[in-house]
Amino acid sequence: MVELRKPIPVADAVCLVMENVRPTGTEMVQLEDTYGRVLAEPIIAKHDVPPFDRSPFDGFAIRAKDTVGASGDNRVAFSVIGEIGAGHVGERELDENEAYRIMTGAQIPKRADAVVMLEQTVEQGDSFTIRKAFTAGENISFRGEDAKEGELLIEAGTLIHPGTIALLATFGYAQVKVGKRPVAGILSTGTELLSVTDELVPGKIRNSNGPMVEAQLKRMGIECKSYGAMEDDLDACTAIVEQALSETDVLLTTGGVSVGDYDYLPAIYERLGAKVLFNKVMMRPGSVTTVAALGEKLLFGLSGNPSACFTGFELFARPAILRMMGGTAPYMPRMKAKLGEDFTKPNPFTRFIRAIWEMAPEGLVAVPAGFNKSNAVSSIARGNCLIVLPSGTRGYEKGMEVDILLIGAEQGVREWTL
Ligand code: AMP
Ligand code: MG
Repeated sequence: MVELRKPIPVADAVCLVMENVRPTGTEMVQLEDTYGRVLAEPIIAKHDVPPFDRSPFDGFAIRAKDTVGASGDNRVAFSVIGEIGAGHVGERELDENEAYRIMTGAQIPKRADAVVMLEQTVEQGDSFTIRKAFTAGENISFRGEDAKEGELLIEAGTLIHPGTIALLATFGYAQVKVGKRPVAGILSTGTELLSVTDELVPGKIRNSNGPMVEAQLKRMGIECKSYGAMEDDLDACTAIVEQALSETDVLLTTGGVSVGDYDYLPAIYERLGAKVLFNKVMMRPGSVTTVAALGEKLLFGLSGNPSACFTGFELFARPAILRMMGGTAPYMPRMKAKLGEDFTKPNPFTRFIRAIWEMAPEGLVAVPAGFNKSNAVSSIARGNCLIVLPSGTRGYEKGMEVDILLIGAEQGVREWTL
């Protein structure tokens, strides 16, 4: 008898997964190794940025009060008493109508309070003239204008990108406290699976999910152990899943979660005593996506159908892994776009359509990326987003506004809002 499964909404499934995530802890890493990691401590300004008043461009540092009354008919002259390159400081204070030649980034000398751009001067030997009055503070990059000492700049839980690294370097973080990366295991199941180097033979297909999921993890900087492809054999699969669980923090399997005769994942979860969080989600593709928890570990039973496998990973596994590392914005960013073509199929469940977003004269348009059944592999290759079509309507027409989820965005969002 076929087991009856109770489908749950996608949002509930996401919630269940996230509730069962156990953080992997934290570690200190060298600044140069922090790209793609999650901050485990906030970045608080250790000093003002910039740390001193400085010149925003090449010019002359002057006292604004010496420029009073300057005009085209009444040019004011300054004598240049020296030069300050970036990294140097002026030796003495400015006196009346004196100026330092100053370069971008150099510290403003004592008593100077404005900078005249080179282009605004007429130079002659060691002096120059100007034709306009300056106000105190004009053309100065002020100490602390970017960040004030003690200010909370970036919260813990933020994914580190090149800009974050610039900020960490600014404050002298040689080591940074970050969330540990989980080690993920991948196991593909299916007697029909060949490896990428095999010739096709009748009844068999090459394993595309294994390499795909490995790359989905790699995109997140996650190290993974591949357990290859297994035939549908309950004992052998149970043994390898057990081994994988002892060697990894999170296990992703593909295939075998449906209700067919050789779909053994449900039996494996039962044998291992894993708690199934859900085994049916109100979504297409990937309604059979199953997630189970065993102790601290999560087991993602992704569908064998490539599009379903891909979508299941992005919707459930990706945010869970980011949350394991302490990430507070683990979800795919969502945008509004116009549907690029009719989609008239009825939607019993929420539908995720692999699509290409692009800018058109009428705004952002998302066009389905071709053959779009759950077993499609070509549309995963073409797509750069997922169109989300909620269930319960009779169909969608070209031009209607729809939600799209961005795939591969470096920065995620805090809330799951669908
Ligand atoms: P399953 O989820 O095991 O019922 O598989 C569903 C469909 O996906 C079947 O047509 C399988 O042949 C196919 N499939 C399963 N695993 C993979 C894989 N690793 N790569 C490509 N296709 C697969
Ligand atoms: Mg199978």
